[in-house]
Amino acid sequence: MKTTSRQRTKVHLPKNHRRARTTENGNGHEPGSQSAPSLSAGLAAWLAKPKRNLIGGKWVAAASGKTFEVFNPADSSVIAQAPDSDREDINRAVAAARRAFESGPWRRMTPSERGKLVWRIGDLILKHADELAELESVDNGKPRAVARVADVPLAADLFHYMAGWATKIEGNTIPISVPGFHAFTLREPVGVVGQIIPWNFPLLMAAWKLGPALATGNCVVLKPAEQTPLSALRLGELLLEAGVPEGVVNILTGFGETAGAALAAHDDVDKIAFTGSTEVGKIIVRAASGNLKKVSLELGGKSPNIIFKDAGDLEAAISGAANAIFFNHGQCCCAGSRLMVERDIFDDVVAGVAEHARKIKLGPGLAADTQMGPLVSEEQLKRVTGYMHQGKQAGACYVTGGERSGDRGYFVKPTVIKDVNPKMSIVREEIFGPVVVAEPFTKPEELIPRANQTPYGLAAGVWTRDIGKAHCIAAELRAGTVWINCYNIFDAALPFGGYKQSGWGREMGHAVLELYTQSKAVVIGP
Ligand code: NDP
Repeated sequence: MKTTSRQRTKVHLPKNHRRARTTENGNGHEPGSQSAPSLSAGLAAWLAKPKRNLIGGKWVAAASGKTFEVFNPADSSVIAQAPDSDREDINRAVAAARRAFESGPWRRMTPSERGKLVWRIGDLILKHADELAELESVDNGKPRAVARVADVPLAADLFHYMAGWATKIEGNTIPISVPGFHAFTLREPVGVVGQIIPWNFPLLMAAWKLGPALATGNCVVLKPAEQTPLSALRLGELLLEAGVPEGVVNILTGFGETAGAALAAHDDVDKIAFTGSTEVGKIIVRAASGNLKKVSLELGGKSPNIIFKDAGDLEAAISGAANAIFFNHGQCCCAGSRLMVERDIFDDVVAGVAEHARKIKLGPGLAADTQMGPLVSEEQLKRVTGYMHQGKQAGACYVTGGERSGDRGYFVKPTVIKDVNPKMSIVREEIFGPVVVAEPFTKPEELIPRANQTPYGLAAGVWTRDIGKAHCIAAELRAGTVWINCYNIFDAALPFGGYKQSGWGREMGHAVLELYTQSKAVVIGP
């Protein structure tokens, strides 16, 4: 077996930089002050088994025999080797998916049987919830407790919700004005779907993609992110256990520039669904143009979270603003990373959010008292601390945080910044870390243009007890989701996606069915 280390085109890290040096430090806020509990025996045993791709119902090594290292971001230790798939593996997986779509039992399965199968996947996720939460924690860095109450149950919920749709994919009868003719539409699966997902919610993103694809009868080739390939592989085992026929779901680990690019460009893939950066989203669109495959995109964000002085319970608004940016270490496409506060209460809100930030307990995801784990990778650590540095150089004021925490693992201090201006990169660009910029506003008429002054349009928050104002602001914001007096509320039934450069299409809810089906008009002559 050959092993490749992570090589990225965007940020190149020499191999010896990928593992952080180990030095303990004594600050109670800092991660080095506690040691992580060891893995459960069950997960340790699973991790020790060789990792393979799932192609055509079989677990197989990459055609090249290459693997890459998977790290625990809390201490940079190598926890597994995953197949380093390339074009040849993608070709094999797409061929398996095509066979399954054209001639396998999947096509003959009734909607009811398909729905029950998708439901079983949700059940199996719940049955293995503890194990999946632990796996997600060591692979991604997030606190196990958070994965256990958020990522894992939401993933199960998605499959349960989508299971119900399998029997409700309906066409219409159309009263055409051609005498004697009868017309109707069928909604049919798109075919072979390529799915490329990111590392911030690895299991949940796999569920968001696989649930609707399976409920609507498609076949899939899924590529998880190189940083977090493991929960997708474990999910693949559960899919087989649930009875997903061979070739219906193929899961390949590897790098975006090789496996991902080959999947996006493949001529026998009918649709590509992508979640990740806007930059790569544009690459996907270009790659998909060869055979004009359908494309759906869930991309980045720089979401405004607006607090008015009539927010009522200011403590709730402050804690909501802290949750909006610090949940999942700020590694959320919809993170409330621009905090816009009415001037009269600006100082109180900023002080309150900073207080929340200082109290957050950093640590390894497996430690019971950890509230925020490390960032996912050294690349992401460099990216986030790079933005922190740029903000300082541009003259912004750091109320709290603004630097790495410790020098072991990829931890950064939750950060609150003020005295910013719209030219600063920290105000314009997606940082994807626990970093919020706070800006005061005075006049409502200046607020909306400023809130919308971003190429993104994924989400927004509004805190006010004036219901009329809330409706007006929600209508004016150019964002796919607006949360009022709350933030980060997700539900499998609620469509999620972006305006502007935050994406194409909506995930979840019945809206997502549009992305995975196509309409066929049938006309019957007299
Ligand atoms: P990417 O957009 O690079 O990664 C997302 C997925 O796309 C991964 O599976 C990745 O593969 C794959 N990919 C990368 N390049 C290509 C390509 N040329 N063709 C096909 N697939 C590709 O995000 P990063 O991990 O680089 O993170 C960078 C920034 O992106 C973050 O800081 C954040 O701003 C944003 N982001 C947004 C997310 C969202 O939810 N909207 C999620 C993650 C990141 P690989 O396995 O090699 O990473």
